[in-house]
Amino acid sequence: MAFSPRWYQNDLITKTIEQWSQGYKNVLVVSPPRSGKTAIAAWLSETFVKPMMLYSQPFIKAGQGVVFMAHREELVRQLAMTYAEFGHTHNIMAPKDVIQDIVRRQIKEFGRSFYDQSSLILVGSVQTINARSDKLRTFAPRVGLWMTDEAHHLLPTNQWGKAVALFTNALGVGFTATPARTDRKSLARSQGGIFDAMVKGVTARQLIEEGYICDYRIIAPPASIDRTRIKVGSTGDFTQKGLTDAKHESTITGDCVASYQKYTPNQQAVVFAVDISHAQELADAYQAAGISAQAVSSKTPKTVRKMIMDKFERGVFNVLVNVDLFGEGLNVTGIQVVQMARPTQSFVLYVQQFFRCLTKATGKNIGTIIDHAGNVGFFGRIYGLPDSYNGWVLEDEQRGKRKKRIPDDDLITVTTCVKCYSPYEAVLPKCPHCGHVPVPAERSKPEHVDGDLVELDPETLAIMRGEIDKLDNYDYVPPSLVDTPAEGRLKRQRLENREAQKRLRDNISLWAGFWRDGGACDSEIYRRFYSRFETDVMSAQALKLKDADKLNETIDTSLKNLIASSGQ
Ligand SMILES: [Zn+2]
Repeated sequence: MAFSPRWYQNDLITKTIEQWSQGYKNVLVVSPPRSGKTAIAAWLSETFVKPMMLYSQPFIKAGQGVVFMAHREELVRQLAMTYAEFGHTHNIMAPKDVIQDIVRRQIKEFGRSFYDQSSLILVGSVQTINARSDKLRTFAPRVGLWMTDEAHHLLPTNQWGKAVALFTNALGVGFTATPARTDRKSLARSQGGIFDAMVKGVTARQLIEEGYICDYRIIAPPASIDRTRIKVGSTGDFTQKGLTDAKHESTITGDCVASYQKYTPNQQAVVFAVDISHAQELADAYQAAGISAQAVSSKTPKTVRKMIMDKFERGVFNVLVNVDLFGEGLNVTGIQVVQMARPTQSFVLYVQQFFRCLTKATGKNIGTIIDHAGNVGFFGRIYGLPDSYNGWVLEDEQRGKRKKRIPDDDLITVTTCVKCYSPYEAVLPKCPHCGHVPVPAERSKPEHVDGDLVELDPETLAIMRGEIDKLDNYDYVPPSLVDTPAEGRLKRQRLENREAQKRLRDNISLWAGFWRDGGACDSEIYRRFYSRFETDVMSAQALKLKDADKLNETIDTSLKNLIASSGQ
């Protein structure tokens, strides 16, 4: 069959091979959901199985075994169908009924079965592979490549690590959209994990722009849950008890039903609840309002769960309420709405939930995220929106310490309009959707107005200007120092400070000029400056030698990035 990889798939494959050629063994491949990891897996498999394939390299020997360890049975089916589409026979390790089902589907679709127990390609669920590892005794050493999905689960100590350890002669690839763990354990081998290198592909934003996944809109009404009062546990996320208590004090259940009726009536919605009783409470509230709804949780028997999900996919009912269980595994098609009723501090969990409604389907071009948990606002101030975030690193240098955000010139933090509930770039002085101008409660500090000096009260401005004036023009020398070496030192110091300030101010002018040329008003430029450099323009002008030079360097870097990205 004549296939060629899409450009971003090709990009990921070549980047992965590049890492291998540099001697890195296990590569963590970051790519958004729906970017075609099964196709990437098929191309990589081909490279190891057949001689002289598209991506062959001197260090990759043909005729080796390939294993894909899947997170869920559903992926085993998908992989088997993809291999069949590529014309590859494959062995399958899964319950008998799953294998029979795959064979039936392949015969129906391709006129033959590609299931072959002697094939060099093996697909299986990680549980089955571990359970039957004794059957792999002769095959395992021949394996040249192992692959997994949801690779943020991989640690040497868990079932994934155990399975990986079976293939001692293999290179590895782990796919994930969110290469971080909610428990903050590192995925890097140097920090106790399994991976030696990370490659990053396109962002979901690019996939949206090219039409591979749906665009979305966000509605983020004020959250009735007070996030600031919920206790944070050792995992870094809110504790279960904290969430349950906070839920009791809120009106979140009613808010969810009301916003569904207002913004997305009759659409297929998935709701993320705080706990099992909350999930049931939500489902009951939907039903009481005449909206068909069902709750599922880890306590729901597997067969019942499957039945409920099937019904949801067929559109028998509209609202599926669940607890964390399905954060990532919720693989039902046709989700139009994601409703967040569970506050989280885990960016991974948030992203996994967020992406659930972005899968394309016939008759569906847009997904809606309704956030009642304050998640969009919370993460928006740190990461911007999740479809553009690509700041992942494999080795976390800040482990154990409080994380400090590294500003990035592409990163645009997000705020939510209090009038129309739409998120927008925090640097804009007014909401671009409805024109609402937010009024800060106080105007006495730059942080209250996001660094916007136009909005500061006159008294504060006068004080800040006084600081600048002191640095620029203050020449008083105490009488006791006159005609002593200390007087010379003092004067030299002042001169050096002023020269450092001159360099800094020239650079600030250049930086501001860049944004002004792009059409930004002063108010926006002040906000951008504050968001990027974590100080306001006026305080910067009162900095002395060392601090001034340090900021100056950061502005230099930013200018270079800006100029490079604008193609000037
Ligand atoms: Zn607005």
